[in-house]
Amino acid sequence: MKIGILGGGQLGRMFIQQALKYSDEIHVLDPAADCPCAYISHFTQGDFNNFDDVLTFGKDKDVVTIEIEHVSVDALDALERLGVRVVPKPSVIRMIQQKILQKEFYTCNKIPSPDFEVMRSAKDEITFPLPFVQKLNTGGYDGKGVQVLKERDAYKNLWPEPSVIESLVDIDKELSVIVAKNDRGQVKTFPVTEMVADPELNLLDFNICPAEISEKTQQQIDRITEQFIDSIDSAGLFAIELFLDKEGKVWVNETAPRLHNSGHQSQEGNSNSQFEQFYRVVTSSPLADTDACGFSGMLNLVGEPGYSGKVKYQGLEEVLKLPKTYVHLYGKTETRPGRKMGHINVIAESREALLEKLMRIKSLVKVVSE
Ligand code: ADP
Repeated sequence: MKIGILGGGQLGRMFIQQALKYSDEIHVLDPAADCPCAYISHFTQGDFNNFDDVLTFGKDKDVVTIEIEHVSVDALDALERLGVRVVPKPSVIRMIQQKILQKEFYTCNKIPSPDFEVMRSAKDEITFPLPFVQKLNTGGYDGKGVQVLKERDAYKNLWPEPSVIESLVDIDKELSVIVAKNDRGQVKTFPVTEMVADPELNLLDFNICPAEISEKTQQQIDRITEQFIDSIDSAGLFAIELFLDKEGKVWVNETAPRLHNSGHQSQEGNSNSQFEQFYRVVTSSPLADTDACGFSGMLNLVGEPGYSGKVKYQGLEEVLKLPKTYVHLYGKTETRPGRKMGHINVIAESREALLEKLMRIKSLVKVVSE
């Protein structure tokens, strides 16, 4: 099968790594000639946000998919009209691209998500009670485009762009559930993962799977997942990011219509990884089983603050000596503060042992420049 991927970052790279055990032809479109997928795929340099670039790239493919959601959906629509299979459907990508439409989708489908108000322009008078979170309608990622407003005069600090104004959740834990649906309507869910963010970088620091949650929390997540997948009229692999609040209620924060950082530990931590599952979805194959192999975790390797330039990984030698520890680097030559450069997966017998191992590795490794 000729598979076309919009975006050539680490998600695409790990997908290709997995998919290469089958016999497909994998093509990638990305603006950066040295992106993580460039040397391991049939590579086209071009802009996945440009209508013509996407149309030309996709025309001769059997299936076109994404590893980033900020792409030209109009071009994907046009490709569908030409008979190219697009996964997930362009209408779903369009809905998720725009936070306002995404929030309306949750409301319409009775999926619990924090209360919100829509701000269409700077002229709108916002009456939403403080404290609240402002999320830009488009273009946000990795915590950018999100601000918490708390003080009485905070209304002055609102960004003037179209946004969602959302109530601030008193978060106990941030969780994620990855769910896949194929064209045949078959659905499989990965075990719930706990995501722990780095408070300074506002980026995912590490994951723990399975999450330590009560039966009641699991039931709420099962209901949300079912409701979501029934309401989405498309095949795809989706990462639903969740908040568990201090009163035990689960809310949907947002959904990614693609592979996700919260599923990287599945590479060694589950009987099949999110990358294998995504391959099954893209090729309309039966879905793979997702059972957890004990406790697994992932530590993101991000560029240290204060270092830019040719990357150097300090402490990897020590880490490579550890049992049940798996290093994944993304092939990026240049580091920058906060840039995701790789991750390390670990497997352990218990949650305590897992956390201990993750913290030990965190103290050993540093991503710096030469
Ligand atoms: P991004 O996709 O850019 O990572 P998110 O919408 O996930 O943006 O927001 C980033 C972080 O901001 C979340 O992981 C969470 O910690 C915090 N956050 C977002 N929305 C809320 C909310 N309604 N209440 C409390 N914290 C929130």
